[in-house]
Amino acid sequence: MHELSLCHAIAGVVRPHAAGRRVEVIRLRVGALRQVVPDTLAFCWTLVRDQQDMPEAELELELVPAAVRCPACDRQSEIESRWSVACPECGSADVEVVAGEEFLVTSVDVS
Ligand SMILES: [Zn+2]
Repeated sequence: MHELSLCHAIAGVVRPHAAGRRVEVIRLRVGALRQVVPDTLAFCWTLVRDQQDMPEAELELELVPAAVRCPACDRQSEIESRWSVACPECGSADVEVVAGEEFLVTSVDVS
């Protein structure tokens, strides 16, 4: 369950930023290729936030679809499958992933 280690990573980013203030909302951008299960992430977060002394902190997820840019047909497309990264237009596997690998805290509300 890699969601648990992701939650520890989130707490590690947020804690120094909060600097002892009360954390209310943590906004997170997660790419589809990260294979994060939102429900599992939310559950793990309820465990980690108590350990990390930020019991009111809510996670808000912004899910980013995966997208590739294909030099062969010069198109950028969203991809559905996380298992095969290839151009949906022409099938070329020689593509550049331009979205979907994000995992970052975009903002934190403290009071
Ligand atoms: Zn293509």
